Amino acid sequence: MKRPLFYFLLVTLILVGSSFYLLHKKDIKTPDSYIQNKNTDSGKEINTETSEKSRKQATDKTSTATLSAIGDILIHDRVYNPAHVANGQYDFMPFLTPVQSYLGEADITVANQETMIGGVEIGLSTYPSFNSPHEVGDALKESGVDLVTLANNHTLDRGEEAIRNAIQHWNKIGMPYVGSYVSSKDKMKIRTIEMNDIIFSFLAYTYGTNGISVPKDKPYLVNLIDMEKMKQEILEAKELSDVVVVSLHFGQEYQRLPNDEQKKLARQTANAGADIIIGHHPHVLQPMEWIERADGKRSFVAYSLGNFFSGQKGDYKDIGGILQIKVEKVEVNGESIVKLNNPSFIPTFVGEDYTVSPLKKVAGKEAVYKEIINHMKQWLPELNVH
Ligand SMILES: [Zn+2]
Repeated sequence: MKRPLFYFLLVTLILVGSSFYLLHKKDIKTPDSYIQNKNTDSGKEINTETSEKSRKQATDKTSTATLSAIGDILIHDRVYNPAHVANGQYDFMPFLTPVQSYLGEADITVANQETMIGGVEIGLSTYPSFNSPHEVGDALKESGVDLVTLANNHTLDRGEEAIRNAIQHWNKIGMPYVGSYVSSKDKMKIRTIEMNDIIFSFLAYTYGTNGISVPKDKPYLVNLIDMEKMKQEILEAKELSDVVVVSLHFGQEYQRLPNDEQKKLARQTANAGADIIIGHHPHVLQPMEWIERADGKRSFVAYSLGNFFSGQKGDYKDIGGILQIKVEKVEVNGESIVKLNNPSFIPTFVGEDYTVSPLKKVAGKEAVYKEIINHMKQWLPELNVH
């Protein structure tokens, strides 16, 4: 009887011991799995390891910067003649004063300078072969423009001389320019602007140059739309920056909706890595939209920003606007994610005397203002319109 009792006690002891071990082991394991599950959650729990992670996430850096863009600056004689002040000197500021504060709202503002500002020394000229006063550039600078895009169908209107004169002036006033250059070396240096720890890079291309051929030995004078070259340059720009902004001078003049070619080019440009695509050339406003990219990200496109400051009148050619978009960069554990948010638009109007004003403030244009809002929001209901 003694031996079975001994075995019974032994077995009982083993069973109790194992149960205690298993229970204890479970106790140890529970917090581990709790941490793993909750780490992917909102991170509210009091566990030390998790709260350290939460704290780290809270201190991870978020930077924001706003980019704004305006459409064509197309200076006809009827615009530069009234701007003449004395002895070949011009002043365009009075035309832009009503929109100056709006242009200054964003951290970076980009304008499309369609006519070269070759200056009076080579003789001013109007449509169809433009050359504009240097002071157009001075007024843009004073109004808050931070970079100009120069790849347009009018870039070669007055040849290399006008381009060189214009670029000399842009350099003199410290205005970065893209899309037209004085040399291969000048073209190779991708322009970037750093704002609030976010680096923006800029590129610009045009569909053509009104039948004037680009000199074969000087392709840097104007960037033409060539998807293979663009892909390469966008890749280079991506290496240098957080946000790639590409200006495309494309589409059909006076058409209020983009054509299939514009849509195709915008998609290809987005899939090549462009984050923001700013369209010009139709001289009227075309809607905006998001483009879903193959890499799962999304790009923003404004197919045409219309005329911002020009001598063209009527049929929507006197309406342009200021696009604003917020860029947010979140850095988590050394990796950064860039998001585009809150696209907004301020429609503008060029009056009888060529003064540019917010459309909302122009008397008698209430119905047009409403129509423009609907036009611009048709593919982007979230667009804020001011
Ligand atoms: Zn054009």
